[in-house]
Amino acid sequence: MIVVTGGAGFIGSHIVDRLLEKDEIIVIDNLSSGKTEYINKDAKFYLADLTRDKIDDLLRGAEEVWHIAANPDVRLGLENPEEIYRNNILATYKLLEAMRKVGVSRIIFTSTSTVYGEAEIIPTPEDYPTHPISIYGASKLACEALIESYCHTFDMQAWIYRFANVIGRRSTHGVIYDFIMKLRKDPTKLEILGDGEQNKSYIYIDDCIDAMLHGLKAADEMINIFNIGSEDQVKVKRIAEIVCEEMGLNPEFKFTGGRRGWKGDVPVMLLSVEKLKKLGWKPKYSSEEAVRLAIRDLLNELNHNQ
Ligand code: NAD
Repeated sequence: MIVVTGGAGFIGSHIVDRLLEKDEIIVIDNLSSGKTEYINKDAKFYLADLTRDKIDDLLRGAEEVWHIAANPDVRLGLENPEEIYRNNILATYKLLEAMRKVGVSRIIFTSTSTVYGEAEIIPTPEDYPTHPISIYGASKLACEALIESYCHTFDMQAWIYRFANVIGRRSTHGVIYDFIMKLRKDPTKLEILGDGEQNKSYIYIDDCIDAMLHGLKAADEMINIFNIGSEDQVKVKRIAEIVCEEMGLNPEFKFTGGRRGWKGDVPVMLLSVEKLKKLGWKPKYSSEEAVRLAIRDLLNELNHNQ
């Protein structure tokens, strides 16, 4: 049996779908951003908040925990750092404590490219110094540190994955989602945060899940840290153009200006994925291909739900 926290969310629900091919799955989620319709019917779902509810009994006997639950909203750190602290750091601490108490020793954790802050080496490898510039990035780095310390102190084992932007069906936040929502409200203009030159890497959800499963199979250190991303970048302005192409629209672009979309935004990001590639994984899609696929996915979902 495997436990997936955040299994009702975008990435978590895809992980559950894949893990169910071989295992019995328990999903723990507070549905703050997750949706019940995303939870695979063959999984057992428990509505619980990691920061408040006792989850020891749900973890008992689990082979491993995929800890995906978090508040993933990088911008939220500007208005509400406490939310990020609670759902990322406190939730991870509480989960680790529950795991330790009931003797579950393997954790798979979803971290982020934002732990590197504004890296000067691009593509950025895993051993690059971590100096986050957002509250979100700092919270995820704190989670990584907690997880590492539990591994050393309580003989646990961890797979820590630092993601580029993950996109695809069921995604409910991020630049593509924002653009589509804005254009559905007003198809004549599109507000673009920053100068549109932000240049980042995007990975399609299926590539991302393949990478996580591959890393888990291929690496067996006490602490296994891998970047996961595509091997190139795409600019925000180009994403806006592709969204417009796919929606058949020709709006006026209105840039808010400045290098960053918001304070704490890292304008240039590309992760080195050589470490995982040496173990035999390779992304199938470039950033631009992933963006187009994700736009089509979201438009299909929205049309379907109308
Ligand atoms: P998401 O918001 O769709 O999923 C997060 C899930 O966690 C939701 O279902 C939510 O209801 C649940 N949750 C939040 N706080 C909880 C709590 N206290 N107790 C129980 N459940 C809680 O986000 P996502 O994009 O699928 O992100 C999944 C993970 O991947 C997160 O850890 C995020 O930080 C990380 N990540 C995502 C990206 C990305 O581009 N989407 C990039 C880097 C890292």
